[in-house]
Amino acid sequence: MTLPRLLGAALALFALALVGCGETKGSTPRGSAAAPSAASGSGPHHAAEPRPVAALHLPASPPPRTVQVPILTYHRVHTFATEYTKSIPDETVEPARFAAEMRAVSRAGYHTITQTQLFGALFRGRSLPPKPVLVTADDGYADDVTQMLPVLRRMGMVATFYIITGRLHEAGFLTPAQVRALDRAGMDVGAHTRTHADLPTLPLASMRAEIAGSRRDLERVLGHPVAAFAYPYGRFDATVVAEVRRAGFVLAVTTQGGTSESSLASLTMPRIHVGRTQTAAGILACLRAVGGCGGGGGG
Ligand SMILES: [Zn+2]
Repeated sequence: MTLPRLLGAALALFALALVGCGETKGSTPRGSAAAPSAASGSGPHHAAEPRPVAALHLPASPPPRTVQVPILTYHRVHTFATEYTKSIPDETVEPARFAAEMRAVSRAGYHTITQTQLFGALFRGRSLPPKPVLVTADDGYADDVTQMLPVLRRMGMVATFYIITGRLHEAGFLTPAQVRALDRAGMDVGAHTRTHADLPTLPLASMRAEIAGSRRDLERVLGHPVAAFAYPYGRFDATVVAEVRRAGFVLAVTTQGGTSESSLASLTMPRIHVGRTQTAAGILACLRAVGGCGGGGGG
């Protein structure tokens, strides 16, 4: 190899190293709407232009405000009989049933909203569409893209997908490219730790790595800030919530039951678990019921 070519190779390696460690502690996420789109040649992280998603920040002492926004929790949408490795049965909703549930929710006049819309309503007094509802899915199974996304797009709905970032390369889970596909389709992507850890049992350093680390992982994949978090197994305590806040999340969901979201508790929002035996009619009853149908489910 000639000297110029050797120098060129060294420069290329140096550039790669810069791309690989672009995150620093406490940095704001990089990526902006102005970032050039590169269809090829610059690595999978930059295959498409990032969405212009603004960073959201929790006010130190927000005015108390409450909104009725039920949050539905899904895990898998999949044909259980064909699962090679069986999931928890109650956490697998059949594809036809999921479609029927979304159709019923839409026909009953509910409007799915984004995390940014919920944040705007809670902290800026912004108005929401009539009968607002959040659809969420935990754990980042490939089903999110293969089963849920087509239904949501067909019906003009949005949802939030909480990703376990340490499983992005495991079989059956979303790949980074699929996570970006959800994002570019207008869906929200939130974090669900790196390893689905039982957070309250962890030493502080590990807890911090799971929470803040998963946010950094996702921001690296998406190229824009990440606002939303879901507690694995719905497990949290005061220290865990403080770490979620410290990491920069502004909205976080539990598995406690309820339909009412408050600006004073935006990091411990209740949800409605949608299990395998739930029906479209049952979901509509839950959405109407003050207090929902109780929480539960894996989280
Ligand atoms: Zn989970």
